Amino acid sequence: MNLTVFGIGYVGLVQAAVLAEVGHNVICVDVDAEKVQRLKDGIIPIFEPGLEDLVKENHAAGRLTFTTDAAAAIKHGRIQISAVGTPPGEDGSADLKYVLAVAETIAKEMTEPKIIVSKSTVPVGTCDKLRKRVGEILKMRGLEVLEFDVVSNPEFLKEGSAVADCQRPDRIVIGTQSPVSEQLMRELYEPFNRHHEKIIVMDIRSAEFTKYAANCMLATKISFINEMACLAEHLGADIEEVRKGIGSDPRIGYHFIYPGAGYGGSCFPKDVRALIKTAESVKFDATMLKAVEQRNNTQKSVLFDKAYQYFGGDLRGKRFALWGLAFKPNTDDMREAPSRVLMEALWDAGASVSAYDPEAMAECQNIYGQRDDLLLCGTKEAALRGADALMIVTEWKNFRATSFDMLREALATPVIFDARNLYNPKTVARHGLEYFGIGRQAA
Ligand code: NAD
Repeated sequence: MNLTVFGIGYVGLVQAAVLAEVGHNVICVDVDAEKVQRLKDGIIPIFEPGLEDLVKENHAAGRLTFTTDAAAAIKHGRIQISAVGTPPGEDGSADLKYVLAVAETIAKEMTEPKIIVSKSTVPVGTCDKLRKRVGEILKMRGLEVLEFDVVSNPEFLKEGSAVADCQRPDRIVIGTQSPVSEQLMRELYEPFNRHHEKIIVMDIRSAEFTKYAANCMLATKISFINEMACLAEHLGADIEEVRKGIGSDPRIGYHFIYPGAGYGGSCFPKDVRALIKTAESVKFDATMLKAVEQRNNTQKSVLFDKAYQYFGGDLRGKRFALWGLAFKPNTDDMREAPSRVLMEALWDAGASVSAYDPEAMAECQNIYGQRDDLLLCGTKEAALRGADALMIVTEWKNFRATSFDMLREALATPVIFDARNLYNPKTVARHGLEYFGIGRQAA
């Protein structure tokens, strides 16, 4: 099948590469000319396990190409997948300018029937808006008889395992009421639907809402366990024991109940806020979603608060070693990462940071540039040397086992603030270090 994908970001690039891998011919369009040129030169703009090889192989095989020429790309595919960003607008609602721009471009250029597939996370009713806009433009062009459809097909990939998630999706949600569109979408995803039926067809609004409901549920689980963790500290309990105790109930499960410094990334924060705004637009007070967001905002300062208290309310001149900058492991994405809130609070308090992350160093440099109070170090050991404390923010695999003797010797003050509860407090204490996790008693 010939496909056109708009937007070569985390979603568009990964999905395009995976669709090319199964034999579809995919043209990717982006307005970022530099990104397109780099991809043509074999430079992959993001880190995602397995992505580089997949992109290079399919590009070399001629099934995956990159362009800024939207008009030519629109001619290529009957199916036009839109995977552009939907960042938060000033009031927190989803900004649809990129999504609208893509639909308008397609409407202005199309000369044959097209199916516009909305893969971005968009508020309920967006596909209806796109349909209306495309219809208006076709009418202005005198082409109102030209067939088109707008289908909702939200993406559920997880950054850090995006390639694997697209290759083996849990479910493929398709929102359409058109039998023709449904048939074409089934053909598109047939290669991923062999093991068992994963395609769930529903009406468009329900498909759009499914994506928000899924992300808000996951964000709720995280804020719930974070609230329990804060309470556990007051009550003298250990949240790690509690986590195992509740996770063993299959109705609760072990997934997404790890306490931490709050959720970040490009999706949960903006999607929770956007759904709150959507609720407001229909005069519904989404009290639970507001509480989820509030808990998350508070949670992002827990590590700072612990350090502030430990050092007697004065962090001036102190240097903190940060392990982990990405919002989660296996990605270089720092959008809304807890590390950013932490670093900015430390800088405001007069402290400096020496940081290490296996993949997000370049991204951190892009965001903050050169500054005296930020030292980006090549190894986790280098970040530690002479620092006043270690702060663990992201649970990268190679932080899980560490030499506590090395830590004690490298740090000026033998203290760890761990937002990921990676270590056993008793083991750390035995090596002569103080240890503050989340939701546990200090050791
Ligand atoms: P991104 O910011 O990484 O990429 C978006 C890309 O779209 C950029 O390369 C940008 O240059 C391009 N673009 C903007 N306007 C364009 C236009 N008119 N024509 C062509 N390209 C254009 O975004 P992302 O993280 O891939 O997210 C895309 C959408 O998917 C969002 O709605 C997001 O909520 C959703 N989503 C993201 C994830 C995730 O983990 N990142 C997961 C599921 C769903």
